[in-house]
Amino acid sequence: MASIRFSALNDVLHRKPIHVTPPSDKISEFFGENVFNQRVMRKYLTEEAYESVQAVIIEGKRIERKIADQVASSMRDWALSKGVTHYTHWFQPLTGSTAEKHDAFFEPLGSHGDSMERFDGSQLVQQEPDASSFPNGGIRNTFEARGYTIWDPTSPAFIIDRTLCIPTIFIAYTGEALDNKTPLLRALNAVDEAATDVCQYFDKNVTKVNSSLGWEQEYFLIDKSFFNARPDLVLTGRTLFGHAPAKGQQLDDHYFGTIPERINAFMRDFENESLRLGIPLKTRHNEVAPNQFECAPIYEESNLANDHNLLLMDIMDKVARRHDLRILFHEKPFAGLNGSGKHNNWSLSTNTGINLLAPGKNPKSNLQFLTFFINTIKAIHTHADILRASIASAGNDHRLGANEAPPAIISVFIGTQLTNLLNELEENVGSGKMTPELKTALKMEIGKIPEILLDNTDRNRTSPFAFTGNKFEFRAVGSTANCGVPMTALNMMVADQLRDFKINVDKKIDSGLTKDEAILQELRKLIIESKDIRFEGNGYGEEWHKEAKRRGLSNLRTSLDALEVYERKEVIDLFDRNKVLTPRELESRYEIEIEKLIMKLQIEGRVLGDMINNHVIPTAYNYQNKLIRNVTGMIQIFGKEADNIGKGQKELIKKITLHVDKLNELVEKMTEGRRKANKIENSKKKARAYIDDVKSCFDDIRYHADKLEMLIDDEIWPLPKFREMLFTR
Ligand code: ADP
Ligand code: MG
Repeated sequence: MASIRFSALNDVLHRKPIHVTPPSDKISEFFGENVFNQRVMRKYLTEEAYESVQAVIIEGKRIERKIADQVASSMRDWALSKGVTHYTHWFQPLTGSTAEKHDAFFEPLGSHGDSMERFDGSQLVQQEPDASSFPNGGIRNTFEARGYTIWDPTSPAFIIDRTLCIPTIFIAYTGEALDNKTPLLRALNAVDEAATDVCQYFDKNVTKVNSSLGWEQEYFLIDKSFFNARPDLVLTGRTLFGHAPAKGQQLDDHYFGTIPERINAFMRDFENESLRLGIPLKTRHNEVAPNQFECAPIYEESNLANDHNLLLMDIMDKVARRHDLRILFHEKPFAGLNGSGKHNNWSLSTNTGINLLAPGKNPKSNLQFLTFFINTIKAIHTHADILRASIASAGNDHRLGANEAPPAIISVFIGTQLTNLLNELEENVGSGKMTPELKTALKMEIGKIPEILLDNTDRNRTSPFAFTGNKFEFRAVGSTANCGVPMTALNMMVADQLRDFKINVDKKIDSGLTKDEAILQELRKLIIESKDIRFEGNGYGEEWHKEAKRRGLSNLRTSLDALEVYERKEVIDLFDRNKVLTPRELESRYEIEIEKLIMKLQIEGRVLGDMINNHVIPTAYNYQNKLIRNVTGMIQIFGKEADNIGKGQKELIKKITLHVDKLNELVEKMTEGRRKANKIENSKKKARAYIDDVKSCFDDIRYHADKLEMLIDDEIWPLPKFREMLFTR
């Protein structure tokens, strides 16, 4: 019975690193070679078409049909020159992954057997995939199942597997968004407008503000033979039980340790593929848990960065298979070990090349920095619950607050130096006109920022939203997440806050204050209002939970609690007035997220039940029988004397029996919970029932299964153990 496990172990012991040949020794020679980027466009497009496309990318202009035709024909020529045969619109349905539908360029002509390679503007700009099977949260009834994918010219087309992939948005026939890209683009637009307006106080040359995103992707790798021998990994992406290894991550010897050769080959391989696709990967290293790793690129404009993250996850999955590995993106594949997240580093920068969250060289640019810095904090203060909701998922529930990831309480860390500065502004700015002395003093104070940041070495790893010198880092995002969702929320709330700020500052200027006075006074108000969201201490500690409660901060522990935020009127209004999601679109997303939660728990419950019934209990009986035969044999040999010997076996038989009884009982209880939950029509109530009556059994079941794993003969245990999956090299 244990043969699968042992043959897996045997496979792994014989694995060799797979040789990887880089396309060239110099990365610069192949970076972006499979992307229809600016360099290629300049070569393939007419001057006019090139300029138009640039205007679309830089200024967000609409593309004309004539130009689209030109771009399409150049794209086709370029793609054909690279051996491409098919094209696809590449989009991000609400399933969370990406989707594509391939069409051939090839088209037969008439009845004479002639043919040509066709691809024109209409095929580039818009497609109608059979969309009825993608989640839509009730927006699209199946009888009007039409959905359109529409070209996003701001993210360049690329080639994978001889297929030209064209990034697109995905919307319903009625114009409503059915994907994660559309609201992101709308939020980016909102923040661009609002931030550009605010920048006018400081620099009239600013005409566009871009949001930048630098993500850090964590993941686990395990051998494919182990993976395939664990139905829970195959079907749910995580282990549902398994005894913690004797050696876990206590020694911290994996973190920044040397990367094993086989893993290293995998990394080189996916990095090469990614670099060819223009993903600017920069760092790779081991993470805290055994077999856990991380990679990160140089940051890019948020929409492109997010496309690149999704593309990378696909590539990593494919390349891992080439190396007989399986990649686990799940937030918590192994209980008791570190989970996986995806830090989202975020900032705003102008078309004049200024990072608005980096202190400048003089008081004026520092006042600009403070403006964006403080407005961001205030935005998080006002809308913390939305940020929390934006990272809600069944997987992330296992990670948040689990003493290795930020808690579900949203707070902002800024470091002692900036805290001191904000305190000083709060104390000194006052209200009303300023004396010249005060102005000079404040100027001095603000002018010192770059110096103080240089030695601002305090880093707080426990904060969900931390300022790290020239950007904020949102650390609560789960490793499977589409960053587009949290980035939509963040950019939208900052946009809303900045708009508000502008209105208030303008009012103050109209009432006779100078611009600087008005800005400083409004900033002071925001500093005071948002004070409670700032927290510099240990976010993992129990103390913080109490303190946060005292401050009235939310602690939305489960995803279901967090998602309910989308029912609040002020939240619906916020999405609506920033033109990010209409009330109907938001509601449909809410519905889809809840459905996803239910689905995940349903599958996990089923798989867990099956594994207990089909793997664990039969193995327990098997071993029990062996022990019983042993004891019976003893009685045969020793007769009455046997009462005093074989005590250990008898105890063991009893223990096993007790655990098996418990398992039978709990699995029955869980199954009953599932049956009942499945009968509930209302999806929110159903999700609640799944959490209360199904998920609530998981830990207890796991407890007994793990006990049995420890008691039963290793020879017959059928499932790869944690120590094998994580430490066999
Ligand atoms: P770590 O958080 O691991 O200490 P760093 O602070 O050096 O690492 O940077 C982490 C990430 O921050 C990198 O992926 C980088 O691309 C990103 N980053 C740096 N500057 C910005 C910025 N202005 N906007 C967005 N992301 C940025
Ligand atoms: Mg980081």
